Amino acid sequence: MVSALDFCGRSERDRVKPMTKNYSNLSRKERQEKWRFYRNRQAKKNRKSGLCSCGQMPKLGLKSCSDCQERSKKADQRLKEEVIAAYGGCCSCPGCKVTVIAFLTIDHIRGHGLEHRQSLPAGSRRLYVWLKKNEFPQDDFRCLCMNCNWAGRFDGCPLAGAAHES
Ligand SMILES: [Zn+2]
Ligand SMILES: [Zn+2]
Ligand SMILES: [Zn+2]
Repeated sequence: MVSALDFCGRSERDRVKPMTKNYSNLSRKERQEKWRFYRNRQAKKNRKSGLCSCGQMPKLGLKSCSDCQERSKKADQRLKEEVIAAYGGCCSCPGCKVTVIAFLTIDHIRGHGLEHRQSLPAGSRRLYVWLKKNEFPQDDFRCLCMNCNWAGRFDGCPLAGAAHES
């Protein structure tokens, strides 16, 4: 006799021991978290055995392989472009027209940038990650070029309002 159970293709064993790898009842986010967890675990193992976190041989004297280095460099660049664009893509000092991404930074308007930076995990890109996660808060941050940022550390940019030479 064919029971309904046989019909949908599940055996007695499946019923007793539910599939442990069935993630379909998890939400997208939960699945992503699980995936990240397993990936991190594997990455840790790889690094422990002297490999790049992806499992390839690292570059001589470095911890990661050239593929991963290239990839993370590109990802960092993309992230920076996204953040800078969200803050106008141009130095916000009046009169300054620097738009070259390499010269632009994100400045903490209220001056406690260092404190904030130190409250984040180490690494220079962490601020960008944080900004993106927090949907680019516009009140506390602005985009400045290195020159205006550096000059403004003491008394505001001396060229503010006037034409900046570039
Ligand atoms: Zn790698
Ligand atoms: Zn500037
Ligand atoms: Zn300036």
